[in-house]
Order: sequence, then C-alpha cells, then structure tokens
Amino acid sequence: MTIGIVGAGQLGRMLALAGYPLGLDFLFLDRSADVPAGALAPVLVGALDDRAQLRRLARRSDVLSFDWENVPVPALRAATRGLRKRIAPPLRALAAGQDRLAEKRLFMRLGLPTTRHVAVDSRAALARACAHIGLPGVLKTRRLGYDGRGQAVIRDRAGIDAAWQALGGVPLLYEELVDFDYEVSALGVRGRDGAEAHYPLTRNWHSGGILRVSLAPWRAPALERQARRGMRALLRELDYVGVLAIEYFVRRGRLIANEFAPRVHNSGHWTIEGATTSQFENHVRAISGLPLGSPAALGHAAMLNLIGTLPPRLAMLGEPGLHLHDYGKAPRPGRKLGHLTLVAPTARERDRRVRAVLRHLRLPYAAHRRGR
Ligand code: AMP
Repeated sequence: MTIGIVGAGQLGRMLALAGYPLGLDFLFLDRSADVPAGALAPVLVGALDDRAQLRRLARRSDVLSFDWENVPVPALRAATRGLRKRIAPPLRALAAGQDRLAEKRLFMRLGLPTTRHVAVDSRAALARACAHIGLPGVLKTRRLGYDGRGQAVIRDRAGIDAAWQALGGVPLLYEELVDFDYEVSALGVRGRDGAEAHYPLTRNWHSGGILRVSLAPWRAPALERQARRGMRALLRELDYVGVLAIEYFVRRGRLIANEFAPRVHNSGHWTIEGATTSQFENHVRAISGLPLGSPAALGHAAMLNLIGTLPPRLAMLGEPGLHLHDYGKAPRPGRKLGHLTLVAPTARERDRRVRAVLRHLRLPYAAHRRGR
C-alpha cells in the first residue's frame, strides 16, 4: 500500500520512518526534492496547489494525507475529483483548521471553551474589537499563521496602528491575551472503523510563539477528563481519521482551546520513544485501515526542540539515553532542525535530566519558564 503525502517536511519524514516497518510505501509532493522526507521516499516536485502533480500523487497512492495543515483545500478537492481516493484526515477537518474563525466557531458549537474573539477586516473594526474585547490582546491572521507568525500583541491603544500596519489587508481575528498558568496539548487518533485512542496530556513551553519543550504524561486528572471530552467531540463531529492535536491554555484549572491541528503534532514527538505506539505509527495505521496501537506512556518523557542551530552531535549523543532526531535541514534562525527525547522512570528524574541536558548543551531557553 502506498501512502501519498502532500508536504515532505519533518512530519512527513517521521511518518515514513514509522510506516516502513509496517510494510507501507510512501510518495510525497513538495516544492523541492531537497526536503526532510526526500531522503526516505520519492518526491514529486510542484507547488502544493499544483493540480496536475496532486492528481499524479493521488493516482499513484492508495490513500492521501498531508503533513501541513495549510494545503489548499480547493486544489486538493479538484485534483482528486472522480478518482474515489480516500483522503485522511478528511478535507472538512483541513478546511476548519485553516481558518481561525471557523475553528473557534467549531470549538464553541461543540462546547469547548475558547478565547473571546472578534473577526476584524478594517482598521476601524480593529479599534472596535480592542474596545469590546479589551487590551492587551492578540491580532492574528485568520489563515496561514504558524509558530507565532502572523500574530501581533497589542498592549495599549498606541499599539493598534503598528499591529494593523504589520498584519492589515487580510482577514484577521482579534482575541484576548490569555494570562494563562501554562499550556497543554491533547493528542488523539481515530481509525477508519471509529475506534479511538487518546494519548496522555502533554505540557508545553513556547517562546516567541514556537514550541520549545514538552513533558508527558502531564498528570492533571480533571484537565485530562475535560480534554478527552473535547477530543471525542471533535473526532466524531469531523468523522475524523488519523491523529488530531488540540492546543490549550490552562487558566485557573480550566482548559481554553487555542487551536487544533489535523495532523501529527510537534508536541507529540515524545511518543516516538515515550509511548507504546508513536503518533506517527498511529496516524499511518489509522489512515491505512489498520488497528490502532496502544497510546500508553512507557515512562516520563521530555521532548526538547532544536531550533536555529544544532548543538554538537557528539555532545548530544554523549548523553546516555538521549535520543536525537535530526530532520536534515539547513540551519536558519527560528527553524525547527530536530528534537531530542529522553524517557525516565519518574517525573522527578526526568526533570532533573532535562535541566542537566539544557545546561550541558547550552540550549538558549529554560524548560520551566513561562511566557510567549
Ligand atoms: P498559535 O499560533 O495560536 O498556536 O500561538 C502560538 C503561541 O503563542 C501559543 O502557544 C501561546 O504561547 C501564544 N499565544 C497565542 N495566542 C495567545 C493568546 N490569545 N493569549 C496568550 N498567548 C497566546
């Protein structure tokens, strides 16, 4: 069976790494052949909305998936018309996740608390939104934002112009700046037969809008129950197949949904060594109609993103029990180049090791610091 994947970044690469032992084949489409998944499988080269290449990918695959949530839905729909090709996760999930407003409306309809927000399409509407929601707040592009891009924090009225100048001209959304206690994410997977598996909750630290550190399992039973309910509702509503991630703020013991990603997620990378079945394996199992594997944690895991530059390989691999995942990308500021995972028998031991590794590798961020 061949899995066709639109986008051949590190997520596609890790999907292929998980799928080959199951006897699956992979074919990718991306703008260049020099991409992280290119070392593992053939890549059709073309824009991600290139209908001819998308159709070629669809014809040569048994099931189609994507490793990027901004793949243009109309192009994918048009390119696969008449081919009766299975696309998983479903296009409906892809479309809802591409527009922050549609995403928030879906959250609200399904009873998932989310941030207070208003759609903004003019400078005057932004001033009204700031008055209505209050300051400080965050102005975000409704589409194509990721890793903190397409966002501007507005702290006071004087900041409105600068934010409008930075982002105005495309559909926007203004929302409250949540004074959160911390951030978590929920990761779930649903098979073609409707079977579900839920990974333990993960605690995340971002800085500059980019994920730096994840710890799992994050033991918070009341939050976990709330997150399960939300995940179940979303998976069923979307008739979902594959892995789905939901990111939350935690404020005063309650979850506030920020966004969802209809794909495997950076905050789930710990599952490669830290869970019985990784998110990547479960995604390929789900979309190819195989039974799901257990999502149970194997210990207490930490995932450290390697951003901008890679520490010396010898230093990383000299740390006993530290696993390196190098995505094969050229260094560039702010770019995710790889990640490290460690798994310890207790949370205390894991946290001690995380601090030691961060110190030893001189990673330019602290694991237990709060903030954007
Ligand atoms: P996003 O692209 O929406 O996932 O935002 C990336 C990160 O920016 C989040 O994980 C938070 O750390 C921060 N952030 C985004 N929106 C808000 C908000 N409304 N209030 C506080 N922090 C936010």
